[in-house]
Amino acid sequence: MIDLHLHSAASDVSDSPSQLVDLALELKLKAIALTDHDTVAGVEQFLSYGESKNIITLPGIEISIRHEPKRELINVHIIGLNIDHTSTSFLNTIKDQIKGRLEQKKAICKRLRNELGYNISFDSVKAIAGSKVIGRPHIVEIMKKNNPNKVEGKSKKDLFKLISIGGVAYVDRKFKLDLEESIELIKSAGGIPILAHPGIHIVPDRKKSVELCVKAGIKGIEVEYTYAKNRPFYETDKENWAQNYFPDYYRLIAEKFNLIKSGGSDYHGKKKKIKIGEANVPDNYLKSFI
Ligand SMILES: [Zn+2]
Repeated sequence: MIDLHLHSAASDVSDSPSQLVDLALELKLKAIALTDHDTVAGVEQFLSYGESKNIITLPGIEISIRHEPKRELINVHIIGLNIDHTSTSFLNTIKDQIKGRLEQKKAICKRLRNELGYNISFDSVKAIAGSKVIGRPHIVEIMKKNNPNKVEGKSKKDLFKLISIGGVAYVDRKFKLDLEESIELIKSAGGIPILAHPGIHIVPDRKKSVELCVKAGIKGIEVEYTYAKNRPFYETDKENWAQNYFPDYYRLIAEKFNLIKSGGSDYHGKKKKIKIGEANVPDNYLKSFI
């Protein structure tokens, strides 16, 4: 088994890249890829630690692209596998993307504070994130910690909704790569652009939405994925349906559009109840990446 979608402490998880390698070794996985959100800061450690071990480690990234409701591109993530994580032009563009991410989180904190009366500052969110990329979970953590009365009766899911696209405290990012730009960036760094977890997208025509990505230059698609443990199906009555339906559906789609098949667990450490290797990605996918 392999797992080509893992997150580490370089983005939003407590496990270090080398700990991921150890966990995968225990499970006797054949190959793993590190695909942190908008950063390759953990890749060097991941590759060097994995080098002498009995496992193949692939460099990767997961880019959050700009929301474009007109093209029905909402919450679309593009994974880049086998990228040259040392490429200067690649790193410079990623730096801007991270800056945009930070400014967005800052603006969300400001809205929560000024418009909704939450006791929250960007500095307190930053402090909780430590060396990790600041994400929505950190904001939610402070919302809960500093505002016990305000969040009473609200679930974690409710709080996430508030600061996600469509939510009252949501602010979009100013600088964000669009679909074509992120595909181009990955290709220019020698990587393979892959459409991540297509089943999570709420679109009227699933085939058409993949076709748009194919036209934009996507080369691969995630077939196996932990749909039952991720948004929007986690903790809904559609968990099992999604888990049974989407991998089969996207396997056919991959064949139809001649796309490279990929897959992974989207492991997020203790934050989600997902285990490494849980997506059951078959070894034979590896031939497209090595
Ligand atoms: Zn992911």
